[in-house]
Amino acid sequence: MKIYLNGELVNKEDAMVSVFDHGLLYGDGVFEGIRLYDGCVFKLDEHLERLEYSAKAILLDLPLSRQEIADAVCQTCRANNLSNGYVRLVVTRGVGHLGLTPDGCGPPSVIIIADDIQLYPEELYEKGLKIISVPTRRINASALPPAVKSLNYLNNILAKIEAKKVGFQEALMLNDKGEIAECTGDNVFVLSKGVLYTPPLDAGSLRGITRATVMDIAKDLEVPCLEQALTRYDLWTAEECFLTGTAAEVIPCVEVDHRTVGDGEPGAVTKSFISKFREKVCIDGVKL
Ligand code: PMP
Repeated sequence: MKIYLNGELVNKEDAMVSVFDHGLLYGDGVFEGIRLYDGCVFKLDEHLERLEYSAKAILLDLPLSRQEIADAVCQTCRANNLSNGYVRLVVTRGVGHLGLTPDGCGPPSVIIIADDIQLYPEELYEKGLKIISVPTRRINASALPPAVKSLNYLNNILAKIEAKKVGFQEALMLNDKGEIAECTGDNVFVLSKGVLYTPPLDAGSLRGITRATVMDIAKDLEVPCLEQALTRYDLWTAEECFLTGTAAEVIPCVEVDHRTVGDGEPGAVTKSFISKFREKVCIDGVKL
């Protein structure tokens, strides 16, 4: 496997970063997870725009232009003969000193890993996922804007561990007002009385690219879709529920906090979103 590391394609075994890299020492950096479907990189420009915004928000100057990063992503996929897979694009503050200050750090480290991914077994897309809300809350938006896709995922990892410890694969995270924020790596949607709802970004949700794709699909399917603050009650009483994310795609959710969603099977609207999404991924991509 070839890894892109600061302008070079190196073997996996040789792809090393310094122990003084602030990405490692402090989680000081940003990243993107991107999918490759049938030789096309899905929503590449949207991912690179989000990376730029994340970098700008943390005052990190990206060392490459958008086009240069796009070329590097495609080059890495080609070097690994991948036509379907997952790309992890990471930019850290770079090598610095022990100490929080980013002064003297850099240049930023740019890492691109292209590999296979299977987040959930296919069976779960047919049967649906069961999720549970956990004690760990989403970091307050005024502490770290949820739109920044930073290397600080400890909050989400703790939530995931809490869910796993009680036998669930995914955790529902609330914000400090007790509203639904998102799952640990996915946005949340519910269907209630024919209307699709998802929490607004200021509830603590990442500006998910799959979320935006689902909102576009909602227009195509003429399903009204609103961003609205949601509580656990809204999920417990929803007719349908699904999660969206680059790795998970659109996955039905059939149980929330031990309450069955709808009739306990993935709903008809969810299924139509899954099939539309699967059609779209092969169309909306940048050819390698
Ligand atoms: N929320 C979080 C916390 C995430 O890490 C992700 C990405 N895995 C998402 C939502 C979904 O975003 P996207 O659809 O852009 O992958």
